[in-house]
Amino acid sequence: AKNDPVENIRVYKSQMSQDFAEWFYVENDLQKALMQNEFELLYQPQFHIDGEKVCGVEVLVRWNHPQRGMLAPGQFLPVAEDTGLIVDLGHQVLKQACRQMKAWQQTYDTKIPISVNVSMKQFMQKDFVTKVENIILETGLAPTCLELEVTETVTMDIERTYKVLQQLKKLGVKISLDDFGTGYSSLQHLNELPFDVFKVDQSFVKKMVHHERGRAMVHTMLKLGEIFNVKVVVEGVETEFEWETIKTYGNPLLQGYKFSHPLTEDQFSNLLRQTPAE
Ligand code: C2E
Ligand code: CA
Ligand code: CA
Ligand code: CA
Repeated sequence: AKNDPVENIRVYKSQMSQDFAEWFYVENDLQKALMQNEFELLYQPQFHIDGEKVCGVEVLVRWNHPQRGMLAPGQFLPVAEDTGLIVDLGHQVLKQACRQMKAWQQTYDTKIPISVNVSMKQFMQKDFVTKVENIILETGLAPTCLELEVTETVTMDIERTYKVLQQLKKLGVKISLDDFGTGYSSLQHLNELPFDVFKVDQSFVKKMVHHERGRAMVHTMLKLGEIFNVKVVVEGVETEFEWETIKTYGNPLLQGYKFSHPLTEDQFSNLLRQTPAE
């Protein structure tokens, strides 16, 4: 279970509540890790409904800790979030991701976009839009090939969020609503915020096999995406059954272990070399 992110998050949570010292330990190491570039990026491909064409990729951060080995986001992001270190970490990830995507686009003659997770704390920084703009200028990545994934939160300030989204859209950057369906008051946000992509959360996909209601939820989210004319990505597709059922509902992009785990830079390069990309 060491490589199972869900398991890692659970282990992390129970450790954290039992052991406050752990928290400070991580915080202290995080500062150093940022300066010493201990973070690594994994790339999980997103596939056409045919399961073959690569149509996008999501960047997922890992911490290659000098003593503790490879850590999953659940083992350090809560601390990074709480201490504000997520702002610098997120900036490093974004810059590295854009640089890498630009290189892949040139080497493999492809236009596929890259999706990068952005924490609400990072998103709400006064200079966030300027930083994004600078990264685009520095790396030369087409802004339309960058998707920023944001998650709804209870404390989300709609007006402020709306303004930032508008500014980002002016740059040409795409905005993706992550974990669609799990957030607070999501139907209202959908109506008011200009998202380009919905990412159907994997918790809905997991319920599909159990009952008709679970399937109806996924079906409805795909329909909503169609009506809103946004791109939809279904996350956490693991089984043939899930894939086959989703196919009968529409043609979203697919991201999940059924098609590929998150890959290292070299592995993703190989994938681009071997399979047709958009
Ligand atoms: P997320 O954005 O919802 O990312 C999807 C997570 O689901 C990833 O876990 C991915 O490895 C996992 N996953 C993908 N396919 C499957 C599947 O078929 N089955 C199952 N069970 N899981 C699947 P990971 O890499 O552990 O990341 C966890 C969370 O950490 C992410 O959830 C995201 O919220 C956050 N995260 C990761 N990288 C970053 C980052 O650079 N910045 C920020 N702010 N958050 C990040
Ligand atoms: Ca995400
Ligand atoms: Ca997600
Ligand atoms: Ca999630």
